[in-house]
This record gives sequence, C-alpha cells and structure tokens, in this order.
Amino acid sequence: MDLKDKVCVITGGASGIGYGIAKRYIADGARVVIADMRLDAAQDAADTLTAEGPGKAMAVEMNVTDEQMVDAGMQQVIDAWGQIDVLVSNAGVQIVHPVVDFPFDEWKKLLSIHLDGAFLTSRAAMKHMYKAGGGAIIFMGSVHSKEASALKSAYVTAKHGLLGLARVISKEGAKHGVRANVICPGFVKTPLVEKQIPEQAKDLGISEEEVVNKVMLGNTVDQEFTTIEDVAEIAHVFAAFPTNALTGQSLVVSHGWYMN
Ligand code: NAD
Repeated sequence: MDLKDKVCVITGGASGIGYGIAKRYIADGARVVIADMRLDAAQDAADTLTAEGPGKAMAVEMNVTDEQMVDAGMQQVIDAWGQIDVLVSNAGVQIVHPVVDFPFDEWKKLLSIHLDGAFLTSRAAMKHMYKAGGGAIIFMGSVHSKEASALKSAYVTAKHGLLGLARVISKEGAKHGVRANVICPGFVKTPLVEKQIPEQAKDLGISEEEVVNKVMLGNTVDQEFTTIEDVAEIAHVFAAFPTNALTGQSLVVSHGWYMN
C-alpha cells in the first residue's frame, strides 16, 4: 500500500494530529500539502517535513470555513502538483460549555469549522478526484462521533455529523473511485487537549488530575492516551487502501474507551 508521490492535502496540518499524519505521509514518500489558517506555522511545518524527506511538503493558507479560500487553495495545489489523491479533513477546535450556557456564536463557529470545513474541502477535492478517476477522503472524527460527554454539545454534534457526510460521499464517490472514511481517536495529547484540561477542571469543579484520569482516560482499558502515531497509522491505511472494499467506515482508535 504505497503513497509514494501521491498528493495529500491535510487541513489543520500545522499542529498536533494533522502534523503527525503529514510526517507519516512524508515518510511514505508522498507530496503533502499543509493547509492551515496559520500560514507561518504551515510554512514552518512544510519546511521541516521537506527537510526530513523522502516526500516533500508545501504550505497553503486556508481557513476551511471560507468557501473562496478553500477553492483557491485546492486550485493552488492543482497548479503546483497537478492532482489531489488524498484529503485529510482534520482542522478542528474544541469549545466546552454546558448546553444552557453555550453562546450561539461559539456553537456556530465550532460547527462551521468541523462541518462546513469538511463539506467545502471535500467538494473542492472531489471535483479533481473525479477527473483523475479516484481518491481517498478521510475525516477526523472522534470517539465523540459515537459517544457523548458533558459540556461538548457542539463538538459531539459535529463529530457525529461527519459520519453521515462520509457515508454519502462513499455512495456518490464509488463509481468515481472516491472512498471516504472516518478516524475516531480517543484523547490524544495535543494543544487542543492540553487547553481543555484546566477548562474542564473549572467547569466540572474537579482537579486537573481528575480530568485526565477520570474524564479523559477513565473508560480506557489501560488509562493511556492514544498517540499521534497511532492515529497516523490508521490515516496511512485509509489513504493507501486501493479499492472500494474499505469505504463508508469509521475506525475507533482509543485504548478501548469505545468498543463497537
Ligand atoms: P490542534 O489544535 O493541535 O491542531 C488543529 C489545527 O487546526 C491547528 O494547526 C489550527 O491552526 C488548525 N485550524 C483551526 N481552525 C482552522 C480553520 N478554520 N481552518 C484551517 N485550519 C484551522 O488540534 P488536534 O488535537 O491535532 O486536532 C486535530 C483534529 O483531531 C480535530 O478535528 C480534533 O477534533 C480531532 N481530534 C482530536 C483529538 C485529541 O484528543 N487531540 C481526539 C479526537 C479527535
């Protein structure tokens, strides 16, 4: 299962899980596009990855909620490298509040980044994939695509929504060789999660240690965080798998937090 020279666009690729997937694809010899709203960070990431090789990386400034920026960014990739083989729609944020206190503008912001972002980037990438005769779309879901947690109404809603979009793309994309799958990680120590620990401690009235050991890892089989490398391994399989046999699926990688 080879990604050599494949063009792989990763949104939110300048940090955390997205960067880890980029690192894995670069090791596979792919051409990786770091599409992030933070252009400087994306450029730094692309330079570091290219230096690592054997693949190479380029940075594209992209706010995934902005239709024109997404379309222009994908065109920039086509102009540079002529094709888009893999899209990892990964950019995301977390905002936690009890439902009764959730500001509507923050609800809309989160849903827009996760759902508008997945839709806009898929739509733009799929047009090129259809012309080329195939491609792989990967959404970054979460255990919260399957489970709920207090304070995370917007996030849980968005992550459940990605399962639906992936299934529709699987059906529409099949005859064009386009596959869509969802990765559902448990807690991974990235800036997104580090930020949540003090916030949840405050909202739930418990210590930061209790947030980690009870809220985040309490239901795992071994009280361990999922790693970026674990997630990148699944991202490799979904990107490289060659047929429609593997489409419309969601795979949970969470130390047994969620078992289906
Ligand atoms: P992170 O904060 O480390 O990285 C997120 C990246 O997305 C950043 O580089 C940021 O600049 C970018 N970004 C944010 N908004 C954007 C926008 N509108 N347009 C383009 N780029 C934008 O976060 P992470 O933990 O690596 O999370 C990545 C994805 O993984 C998210 O979708 C998140 O929900 C999901 N996820 C994370 C965990 C976890 O425990 N960390 C678990 C399950 C799922």
